[in-house]
Amino acid sequence: MTANKKLLVLPGDGIGPEVMREVRRVIDWMDRRRQVSFDLEEDLVGGAAIDARGTPITEATLAKAKAADAVLFGAVGGPRWDTLGFDKRPELAILSLRKDLGLFANLRPATVLDPLVDASTLKPEVVRGLDIMIVRESTGGIYFGQPRGVETLPDGTKKGVNTEVYTTPEIERVARVGFELARRRGNRLCSVEKANVMESGLLWRQTVSALGAAEFPDVQLSHMYADNCAMQLVRNPRQFDVIVTTNLFGDLLSDLASMLTGSLGMLPSATLGGLSEDGRRNALYEPIHGSAPDIAGRGIANPLAQVLSFAMLLRYSFAMEEDAALIERACTKVLAGGFRTADIMQPGMAKVSTQVMGEQLLRELDKLAA
Ligand code: NAD
Repeated sequence: MTANKKLLVLPGDGIGPEVMREVRRVIDWMDRRRQVSFDLEEDLVGGAAIDARGTPITEATLAKAKAADAVLFGAVGGPRWDTLGFDKRPELAILSLRKDLGLFANLRPATVLDPLVDASTLKPEVVRGLDIMIVRESTGGIYFGQPRGVETLPDGTKKGVNTEVYTTPEIERVARVGFELARRRGNRLCSVEKANVMESGLLWRQTVSALGAAEFPDVQLSHMYADNCAMQLVRNPRQFDVIVTTNLFGDLLSDLASMLTGSLGMLPSATLGGLSEDGRRNALYEPIHGSAPDIAGRGIANPLAQVLSFAMLLRYSFAMEEDAALIERACTKVLAGGFRTADIMQPGMAKVSTQVMGEQLLRELDKLAA
């Protein structure tokens, strides 16, 4: 038995608990079959925590998240809590976690699984086999820089200001995540900014270049302007391996890249913090979709984004590459077997519930591990 791995599970609201239930079955399966034991705790966040405790996330839950080796998050929010003020909304749970755990690197893979190649709006020959990873800096840049605000000018007109600010340590720490990821994948990193028109972009480019030369000379580094990157992602997305970019450009480019795959219910993500002296790294894993109130409670949500988020957790927090790959292969097999939840339904396929999708996944895991 390998040492216990401390996991905090936060299902949240809406379809969060429904899709997390299927992950719990995968975890139980691993406990039984793969000789790994998880020390698992579950807690309330979001609207569920507001209802039970009057706050979207308690200090005690934040402390548990800090003490855990990794956090698996579902989704929060829903119309029930939409009338609350911005200082009380369910979504504050995720913002507090990001802030308290110092999570600055948001990882969004865009992978096209073969059975779903037709779900993309792009031609199959452009996206078949797509496997890229976008690393977005997520705690700095223009969404946080000072000065910011709206002021009234002497002539009565108004001026709105936001400021793109990056320091070398902020650039280095997120670029380091990008380089390390590239080393574990195709060994290519593309750094994206607008060094042609922004001073902060020029500093970004110089800093990433210097870091690459000093610490990652083996990784093939390229640079691209953000506008060109948007175009290239649609023209020929397979040219990329890992992309590292700023908060603003990452926001846009990661949404663009995820839609290359065509299915929200399939997309996982990770947000990582820095490495501490004892070699630990805070990390939170979640699907990119929300709590989907329109289908919550009907048992029809696609659990695969949540399952694939768990696979990312195994890979990046516990270095369990084989187990992560096994789960990913099982997901592909279920789809290849013709099983589809409503969101990815295609003609001639079998439409199944969240629970049946989970059962089919366990069957494939059994077969692959036999
Ligand atoms: P959403 O992602 O919840 O839903 C968008 C559409 O995709 C809906 O039609 C939904 O039914 C569908 N969908 C999403 N996930 C699916 C799945 N796994 N299987 C099948 N269909 C799926 O986005 P939204 O509707 O804009 O937001 C709903 C709520 O979720 C809001 O309260 C929002 O604030 C919250 N939200 C939370 C997070 C988070 O917790 N990190 C992220 C995004 C939105």
